[in-house]
Amino acid sequence: MTAIELNARPHKDYSLHLQEAQHVLAQAAAQYAGADGDAARVTQASSLGAEDMVISHIINRLQLDIGIFVLETGRLHKETLDLLDQFKADSRAPVTVYKPVEEAVVQFVAKEGLDAMYKSIDLRKACCNIRKMEPLERALKGKEAWITGLRREQSGARAEVPLVDTSEPRVKINPLANWTWGDVWHYIKESKLAYNPLHDAFFPSIGCEPCTRAISMGEDFRSGRWWWEDEAAKECGLHVKHADGSEASPVSALPVSALAPKASV
Ligand code: SF4
Repeated sequence: MTAIELNARPHKDYSLHLQEAQHVLAQAAAQYAGADGDAARVTQASSLGAEDMVISHIINRLQLDIGIFVLETGRLHKETLDLLDQFKADSRAPVTVYKPVEEAVVQFVAKEGLDAMYKSIDLRKACCNIRKMEPLERALKGKEAWITGLRREQSGARAEVPLVDTSEPRVKINPLANWTWGDVWHYIKESKLAYNPLHDAFFPSIGCEPCTRAISMGEDFRSGRWWWEDEAAKECGLHVKHADGSEASPVSALPVSALAPKASV
């Protein structure tokens, strides 16, 4: 059974959800348009997961002036890399791929091992910092706002996600905040969108290969990510919130020592 067959069941308010997402994205493109031919001051962060494919499709369909970036961590599944090639070829909006600093990866792997993420939460976060957070910082440089595929339904930690989050200096726009998983797959079905085949193998949330697994019926959407850790630790830093609700800035969320390439092992 495919992910479409299993999930494509729109909410009764699907039309409103779609209108809302289109409106939020069009507003973002207008509000953060670049001046004098400069790139827009807003960008979409895409993991190439189902939600992000929907958002990119709306951006392309409405011909919005919003670029898209993908973090290629060096540990993605082959299925994701294949989809990335196809996505880059098909997208009207420019797609930029950001990779980690090679020297930082080499030094970290030499010291801690390729699969250090299983040894401790600190090492897992250090790996995320090198492979995701530092490239994210580069991707967001000069941007006043970014667009994500966060939905309230994804996990308890995301239950309060707003459409537009202004709690940090860099605004986070979540056009699918109110969408259900059924809405996402209905859109993919109706629009005949390409999607990651791992979704057909019960991977609702797809990240790096060592840190993502299939889930069972009834499990939380995010339970396939860093499944060996407690729920509270399960964000890579991209969407970390402090206890008071404010958001951790990407790189400062993790130890500085994990960031800088070291001179020697
Ligand atoms: S998700 Fe896993 S492999 Fe990917 S950067 Fe984080 S710890 Fe490393």
